[in-house]
Amino acid sequence: MNYHQYYPIDVINGPGTRATLFVAGCEHQCRGCYNQSTWDPRSGHLFDEAMMDTIIKDLNDTRVKRKGLSLSGGDPLFPGNLSAIKALLERVRAQCPGKDVWMWTGYTLENLSPEQRAVVALVDTLVDGKFEQQLHDPSLAFRGSSNQRIIPLTQVE
Ligand code: SF4
Repeated sequence: MNYHQYYPIDVINGPGTRATLFVAGCEHQCRGCYNQSTWDPRSGHLFDEAMMDTIIKDLNDTRVKRKGLSLSGGDPLFPGNLSAIKALLERVRAQCPGKDVWMWTGYTLENLSPEQRAVVALVDTLVDGKFEQQLHDPSLAFRGSSNQRIIPLTQVE
């Protein structure tokens, strides 16, 4: 998997102060996509073990208390990203107690493959659905168009 941006401190993408990773790779081709440069899974930088270590370290940094991790893109559930995202989230679950995970995807919850479901099982809140330009509403929190849903999957607060 490749990634485009990592923000160690982010107050925009999800509730509270967070760490946010924007991954490469997306097959949805939404009209009006704000992030077309991420579509190519070969774009950006390699997401390696050291990057994973950095995210875990940041989430556990007591100097800047982060509520959790946000995963966006691109699409974290792009098929080529699943193994790396699953490995990252397994580490977050094991090594970062109390941190929540938000994920943005262009897929819809009902249509996920078994492999995608296995990754989403490690997520607390899923924001799903393609960006629909005619439903774009800048007043919406944490989503770009009104068809997209903020779906709480766990009780973590
Ligand atoms: S899912 Fe997101 S990154 Fe992918 S095409 Fe749609 S808006 Fe762009």
